Amino acid sequence: MRVLVTGGAGYIGSVAVALLRRDGYDVTVLDDLSTGHRDSLPADVRFVEGSVLNSAIIADALTDCEAVMHFAAKSLVPESVAKPELYHDVNVNGSKNLLAQMKLAGVNRLVFSSTAATYGEPEVIPITEISQTNPTSPYGATKLEVDHAITEAAKRDGLAAISLRYFNVVGGIKLDRGWISERHTPETHLIPNLLRSTSANPIKIFGNDWPTKDGTCIRDYIHVVDLIEAHIAALKAAKTGSHEIINLGSGSGYSILEVIAATSAALGTELPYEMTARRAGDPAVLVADISKARTLLGWQPTRDLAQMVNDTYEAAQG
Ligand code: UDP
Repeated sequence: MRVLVTGGAGYIGSVAVALLRRDGYDVTVLDDLSTGHRDSLPADVRFVEGSVLNSAIIADALTDCEAVMHFAAKSLVPESVAKPELYHDVNVNGSKNLLAQMKLAGVNRLVFSSTAATYGEPEVIPITEISQTNPTSPYGATKLEVDHAITEAAKRDGLAAISLRYFNVVGGIKLDRGWISERHTPETHLIPNLLRSTSANPIKIFGNDWPTKDGTCIRDYIHVVDLIEAHIAALKAAKTGSHEIINLGSGSGYSILEVIAATSAALGTELPYEMTARRAGDPAVLVADISKARTLLGWQPTRDLAQMVNDTYEAAQG
C-alpha cells in the first residue's frame, strides 16, 4: 500500500516515513519545506515539494496512494497567538483542501495529527476523548476545526479516519544515515531547549505560580517512536464511515521541575534554569487517559522519559 505523508520532512512526519518504510509501505511525501528538511528523508522516496494550500499539487501527490497520514501544519502555540490567520489558513484550509482532493481521487483512509491543545484547560485529569474541548490557543482551535471537518467527511463520504491527539512528543530515532529528531528554528520545546541550557544562558521556565504541586506546568511526554507506532496501528484500524479520536501520551504527567531533575540525572550534571512569567496559551496540566489507544489500537507506549531525554541528547551530538 502507498501512503501519502503530508509534512513528511518535518520532525514527526519524517519518523513516520522511516517506520512506514521499515514496515513495507510505499511512501510519497508532500512538504513545502517551510519548517521541514529534505535531508530528513531517504533519497529514493517520492517527494513532492509544495503546500497543502495548492490543490493541484495535492492531487499529484495522491497518485497511486490508498491512505494519507496528515502532519503538514503550523504547530507552535506561541506563534499561533501572534499569527492566528496564518494558522487558520494552513491548518484549516489546507486540511479541507486535502479532504476534497482525497474524495476526488477516491482515497478513503486518513490518520490525522491532532493535538491535546484541542482540550484547552481541562476540568478533569487524566483527559479522555470525551472531555470538553475548549482550546486556549489558535493552534488548538484550528486542529479542533479540522477534527470536526473530518467527522463530517466520515459521515458524508464514508471516510475511514482516526485523529490522534498528541500530548508532548519528544525523542528521536537512529537510522543508518543518522539521527532524526527535533530541528526547529527557533526551538520552543522544553526538552531540546533544556539540553542547551548553560549558566550564561539558562533556560527560561514559564511560570512557577501555576496551580500544580510545585507551581510549574505538568505535561505528558511521549516518545516519537511510540507515537508513530500508534499511527501505523491507526492506519490499519480505521473503519469506513467512522472517525475515531484517540489520545496519544504516556498516561503519566511530569512537572517542568521533574523534567529538569530527570534530564539533569540523565546527563549527570545540574542543568541551570531561570523562572520567568507565564507564556500565553499554556494550560496548567495536560495528562492523557490512553485507555482508548490501548483498546482500539492494541498499542502500548514502551519508552520512558529517560529514553526520551537520552535520545534527544544523542541526536543533538550528531
Ligand atoms: N516551557 C518552558 N520553557 C521553555 C519551553 C517550554 O518553561 O523554554 C514550558 C511550557 O510553558 C510548557 C512546557 O514547558 O508548560 C512544555 O512546553 P513545550 O513548548 O515543550 O510544549 P507544549 O506543551 O507547548 O506543546
